[in-house]
Amino acid sequence: MGGLEKISLTRESKKTQFIKGIGVTAQIITGKAYLVDRGKIEAPARVLPENQVPWEIERFQDAVEESKKQLRSAKEKLLHEDAVGPAYILDAHLLLLEDKHLIDTTVETIKQSWINSEWALKINLDRLRKIFNSIDDDYLRSRKTDLDYIEQRILRNLTGRGTESLAQIKEEVIVVAHDLSPADTAQMAKDKVTAFVTDMGGKTSHTAIMARSLEIPAVVGCETGTHYINTGDTLIVDGITGVVVINPSPEIIQEYMDRNRTRQKIERDLFQYRDLPAETLDGYRVKLLANIELVEEIPSVLEHGAEGIGLYRTEYLYLNRKELPTEEEHFQAYKTVVERTSPHPAVIRTLDIGGDKFISHLELAEEMNPAMGLRAIRFSLKEPGIFKIQLRAMLRASAYGKVKILLPMISGVSEIREVKKILNEVRLSLTAERIPYDPHIEIGIMMEVPSAATIADILAKEVNFFSIGTNDLIQYTLAIDRVNEYVAHLYEPLHPAILRLVRQMVKAAHDAGIRVAMCGEMAGEPLYVPILLGLELDDLSMNSLSIFRVKKILRSYTLRECKELVEAALQLSTPEEIEELVRASLRQKFPDEFREKFNFRTIANS
Ligand code: PEP
Ligand code: MG
Repeated sequence: MGGLEKISLTRESKKTQFIKGIGVTAQIITGKAYLVDRGKIEAPARVLPENQVPWEIERFQDAVEESKKQLRSAKEKLLHEDAVGPAYILDAHLLLLEDKHLIDTTVETIKQSWINSEWALKINLDRLRKIFNSIDDDYLRSRKTDLDYIEQRILRNLTGRGTESLAQIKEEVIVVAHDLSPADTAQMAKDKVTAFVTDMGGKTSHTAIMARSLEIPAVVGCETGTHYINTGDTLIVDGITGVVVINPSPEIIQEYMDRNRTRQKIERDLFQYRDLPAETLDGYRVKLLANIELVEEIPSVLEHGAEGIGLYRTEYLYLNRKELPTEEEHFQAYKTVVERTSPHPAVIRTLDIGGDKFISHLELAEEMNPAMGLRAIRFSLKEPGIFKIQLRAMLRASAYGKVKILLPMISGVSEIREVKKILNEVRLSLTAERIPYDPHIEIGIMMEVPSAATIADILAKEVNFFSIGTNDLIQYTLAIDRVNEYVAHLYEPLHPAILRLVRQMVKAAHDAGIRVAMCGEMAGEPLYVPILLGLELDDLSMNSLSIFRVKKILRSYTLRECKELVEAALQLSTPEEIEELVRASLRQKFPDEFREKFNFRTIANS
């Protein structure tokens, strides 16, 4: 990902240049660049005379203390702005600075080997990096950057290079840096920093998450892109396509501004859908719900008129920390989500983590095939102590609004029964402690493993609702690794096998009198809406930004048309034929907006 589109770039050149990275927030901004020195400091290596060792240890500890002070102050600022989620990220860095495996071991290395702090720190961080590198999960592996941030912060304090504070920026600029730490992002004066561009980072990097939460437009992962930007250059930062234009010509600026105006107009027009019911022309009503990862996303959920949270991925509560979240931390997060979503329901999913090594004290074996390994419900059932803490918090939160519990990666009935047993124990202990909870709390399962889809009729008798996780269902059914770019073209939501499985699951759910939702990415893609309606899903849960577009499409169809479309689709043999059929139908309804294939993806992803 990322990299330069035009190889012949030079830093001096004032001519228009384009760099390509990863867009983080769906906005286009122009402004002046401000280059920030976040160049990597290399750790110098020196052997010390023995009598200097105590002094060196003190120097190291002072730098660690100074680093903590800086992070605490950045965190204070975030909390002051009510940005609780991003503050968690800084907590993770603070925890690293207090981590015995890192700090005490580094002191020990200085003591034993008589070497300088920078070198000793590097030795110990390299050891930790090696562990992170072995984690077979993109998101978790990318957390390795937290170690880099900590290293750079301590090194800056050791070498006296300090860190230029972004809080001090006085005029409106676009910050450009090799890398920005989450603490940097937190410190940005939002009215001054209109956007930022970095060489480093991916879609799920903390800096990107922070940018989204704080709604700062950004392009990350430009690789060596920032080599070509000078302070004072005019930039266009297109957070939708991930393109950064350096010194654009007036024509290009005009083109982008026109594009931005069109986009804003579409957004404004779509806003009219906010309070309209999600129903077809003939009155078939579905619920449009939101998927969230962070509590901070709730304002956007409400703004887009979601009728509840269809999937709260609780994984974020566990990431970037040495200790497991306490029951109280779980409870506070769930209570906030439930109270703010009320009177609508919030579906909270129990932990769905793959690379469990991240939960450091558990030390589980490395797996050859993590997607098919000790993941999700399998992990929870193997670690009932951890599971019970989460279930207790969910039950406690159910006293504050409508909570539904969702179990990930269910493959058969016995898992559900085991969960029910554990849940019962949790219920009994809460009752004994006189802690209130909803005794009728609903239990649902993610339908994302082919075996579950195949026995949907049996599973439907055991639970209160289904939620179809197409991200994994497609991965497991079509044998396409969802994170492997080499097989990405084979990842086909409209594959006849997927449509048949969805139809079968919906039928099983409806026969048993339970609701069936879809919460995979497929549910938020405008292209698939007529098919999903025709398959008679009850709820569609998606990124809240997709809600208006999905509503617009579903309000233009009758259920009958959609059912006919599904019937016709199921007569076809390939995903391509089915896609063309759906496209033709959409083109008839939206001749202006759905002309090209590109549109669907862009709209769905923006
Ligand atoms: C899915 O698999 O479709 C899903 C929604 O869950 P996740 O993407 O978290 O695996
Ligand atoms: Mg899944």
